[in-house]
Amino acid sequence: MRLMIIGPQGAGKGTQAMRICSELGVPHIATGDLFRDNISRGSELGKLAQTYMDAGKLVPDDVTQQMVADRLRHGDAEAGYLFDGFPRNIGQAQWLESLLEELRTPIERVVELTAPDEVLVQRMLTRGRADDTVEAIRLRLEIYHAETQPLVAFYGDKVLPVDGVGTVDEVHDRVFAELGLTPPARDAVSSGTPVTEDA
Ligand code: AMP
Repeated sequence: MRLMIIGPQGAGKGTQAMRICSELGVPHIATGDLFRDNISRGSELGKLAQTYMDAGKLVPDDVTQQMVADRLRHGDAEAGYLFDGFPRNIGQAQWLESLLEELRTPIERVVELTAPDEVLVQRMLTRGRADDTVEAIRLRLEIYHAETQPLVAFYGDKVLPVDGVGTVDEVHDRVFAELGLTPPARDAVSSGTPVTEDA
């Protein structure tokens, strides 16, 4: 299955993405993680990306797209994947559409996680990541509403809106129901895990 998950930071996107990927057995292609990996390896790409990330700004499209194109060349993406954090704007989405059209592998479903801004700010402040200053959080939310949310109209009827407020398991079950999949059986102890972080 070729999937995409979109939603503001703090909506539990990273957590849900990792679970979807492990349960469906598809790779998790998260541009934020790819940038952080480059930063920790001290690569040129990482050095460039870090200046934008620290300021809460988007890394330029050409840099991001090149990194995604390289990632898609790994054989593991043939069985499907879940994009997380990409595309972040209409320009990236148009670039991706033409690439996937060439490969004849269109995106099948777009999961849109939603939550009110005040819930998001609180969640982000508790995850304690280095780029989570109040200013950077607010800027990223503004950028999300202005640049990323228009993707909902762009992807039209491929979009499955899911309420992101609730426990990790509750939200996960909503996502699976929207995708027409059966959620995994689980014991009662783990079902109350609150959402406390995001990636
Ligand atoms: P994330 O892990 O998705 O929260 O991303 C962390 C940071 O990486 C963002 O604030 C951006 O600076 C950068 N980033 C991640 N994905 C993209 C993208 N698709 N386009 C541009 N910048 C991105």
